[in-house]
Amino acid sequence: QTTTKPPPLPSPLRFSKFFQSNMRILVTGGAGFIGSHLVDKLMENEKNEVIVADNYFTGSKDNLKKWIGHPRFELIRHDVTEPLLIEVDQIYHLACPASPIFYKYNPVKTIKTNVIGTLNMLGLAKRVGARILLTSTSEVYGDPLIHPQPETYWGNVNPIGVRSCYDEGKRVAETLMFDYHRQHGIQIRIARIFNTYGPRMNIDDGRVVSNFIAQALRGEPLTVQKPGTQTRSFCYVSDMVDGLIRLMEGENTGPVNIGNPGEFTMLELAETVKELINPGIEIKMVENTPDDPRQRKPDISKAKELLGWEPKVKLRDGLPLMEEDFRSRLGVPKRN
Ligand code: NAD
Ligand code: UDP
Ligand code: UDP
Repeated sequence: QTTTKPPPLPSPLRFSKFFQSNMRILVTGGAGFIGSHLVDKLMENEKNEVIVADNYFTGSKDNLKKWIGHPRFELIRHDVTEPLLIEVDQIYHLACPASPIFYKYNPVKTIKTNVIGTLNMLGLAKRVGARILLTSTSEVYGDPLIHPQPETYWGNVNPIGVRSCYDEGKRVAETLMFDYHRQHGIQIRIARIFNTYGPRMNIDDGRVVSNFIAQALRGEPLTVQKPGTQTRSFCYVSDMVDGLIRLMEGENTGPVNIGNPGEFTMLELAETVKELINPGIEIKMVENTPDDPRQRKPDISKAKELLGWEPKVKLRDGLPLMEEDFRSRLGVPKRN
């Protein structure tokens, strides 16, 4: 007597793919600054279902309040250093504190988030066959010896410094991404994000644009860290989100630099904030922190060529949009 085995049941993912054409997207760190703007953009497409996994270390439910309760949206309190078992088609993996004061607060946790967190998301991508995008950082270039920085530059990074939990952590995360790609055929995308600013940044997170705007609105001196001639390039958050989505949807693994090549010294930034927001304010020179990169500016030729992407919002146009958000959160009324 022979018994015929029934065919295996379809996995929940194949099942959902068979019956609906929706794209189910996981955004880790989606309650944070860039993540919440990314969620807003993804939710605009009615074919997307968005799941956010966040431990609320630097993010907040407030950033997602307009989506809570929406039928295509789900919010999970989850730490990416723990395994996550869900079924998705795409993973935007952002979870990681981005501001130096937060990533230095518990450096061991920061490196766990970068290494174990990325490993878990890759394990998830492998199990369900999802495409995964990592938000890496310009900090992988360290204190760069080449200017501007192309993706081919390997960087000048201190492996034992106070920033290493973040920049070396992201470097290992990039390595894991490429090893899973080569060894297991996972579809990967790596964005190297340069300094990004915009509404919903933590008011007291210590990054330079949020510090200067909050100081200008509170009528406090703008604290320029010495020497003040160090440079950064600032990308407005809507341009960043557009670049990330193009990278995810495109055919190239990256790494691709995403940032605004407009380069400013910190003194120039302070002068601009002063002029736009509070001309009466003082600019004060203060001590810097160790390992501060002297210059940073993305070479975005690859993003232009492969993604047809370049930033649209100039610093002078982006700052007032952020000012408005900070005014309402700080309760400082508009000027006439
Ligand atoms: P953010 O701090 O606002 O957001 C990070 C989010 O990740 C927060 O919601 C936080 O609660 C969450 N998170 C942190 N650790 C977690 C963990 N272990 N498990 C689950 N969630 C966790 O920062 P952001 O500016 O939105 O940055 C987002 C991503 O972009 C980060 O990966 C960061 O490294 C990268 N990045 C940002 C910049 C920038 O200028 N903002 C520059 C380079 C790279
Ligand atoms: N993992 C996860 N969700 C999944 C599948 C895996 O979080 O859906 C985690 C898993 O716990 C492991 C990591 O991802 O720690 C790497 O998984 P992989 O299968 O690549 O490696 P292994 O489990 O064989 O070490
Ligand atoms: N910075 C400053 N005043 C501040 C905060 C930061 O002059 O109140 C400087 C800091 O020394 C660095 C630059 O601004 O040169 C960018 O610092 P941030 O922490 O914003 O980002 P990152 O160092 O990660 O680029």
